[in-house]
Amino acid sequence: MVAEHSIKQAPCPEPATDGHPDLSQTLQRVRVVLVGTTHAGNIGASARAMKTMGLSRLVLVQPKAKLDAEAFSMASNALDVMDDIQRFDDLDAALAGCHWVVGASARLRDRPHELMSVRQAAEHACATWLLNPETAQTEIALVFGREHSGLTNEELGRCHAHMMIPANPVYSSLNLAQAVQIACYEIRQALLSDNPLPAALESPLPASHDAVEQLIQHWQSTLHELEFLDPQNPRHMMQKLRFLLQRAQITPNEVDILRGMLTAVQRKIRQTGQFNDV
Ligand code: SAH
Repeated sequence: MVAEHSIKQAPCPEPATDGHPDLSQTLQRVRVVLVGTTHAGNIGASARAMKTMGLSRLVLVQPKAKLDAEAFSMASNALDVMDDIQRFDDLDAALAGCHWVVGASARLRDRPHELMSVRQAAEHACATWLLNPETAQTEIALVFGREHSGLTNEELGRCHAHMMIPANPVYSSLNLAQAVQIACYEIRQALLSDNPLPAALESPLPASHDAVEQLIQHWQSTLHELEFLDPQNPRHMMQKLRFLLQRAQITPNEVDILRGMLTAVQRKIRQTGQFNDV
């Protein structure tokens, strides 16, 4: 009779790196951000989907669901991903430190976004960010919306690009965790493919998401002080500004220059007593 311990399977499904020594490290630079998830099972199933593709950084923004027994049951053996989940109250905080953010939505929007298929997004992510020696320290995020209503326009506006999973046009809305699975699969395939990667950056490394958001906040408060903005409704204008800055891919140095100018404007307004307390 075979002793019980000798017939247990060692948990070793595949070599961790697929022959690519940096694969797991590279995948650490990709976070999956789920916004307002309502079904616990989808969080667990997303964790499992990520782990099967070698991703591990799962971030929740204002989840409506609890990490309950159903979540852990759907996570199956991805308990390490579940244990490392990070939660944030707002999307900007969840995206801090990211240089490129892509939002997943099945719906076409009337926005000046770069629209990509999920495969194009994964190829771009690898060529420009994950496999490019010039951007070796950068991080990227894949953002997914709520089960019932997806991402708001404002949330998608925080992303540099909009990715779609090309699906049946008459029924294109996938289950959240299945959408996560496909996106993670495409990232993994793009990383492992033999495409002539990486692409050279056309310009210097752009500023991170949080640096651009701080600039926008600074701009907004200065425009309030100038009484240029309607304090009740600044969003439209600031979103247009955000699109402009995203398109321009401004650098950290350019952020500093613009913030220096804004500080000088604020100083002048305050000196001349025109300060409008906002
Ligand atoms: N009813 C929602 C769909 C929610 S599905 C809506 O109308 O937007 C939950 C999430 O899965 C979406 O927010 C999106 O992030 C992702 N998703 C589902 N199907 C997708 C598709 N075809 N392309 C890209 N993302 C998709």
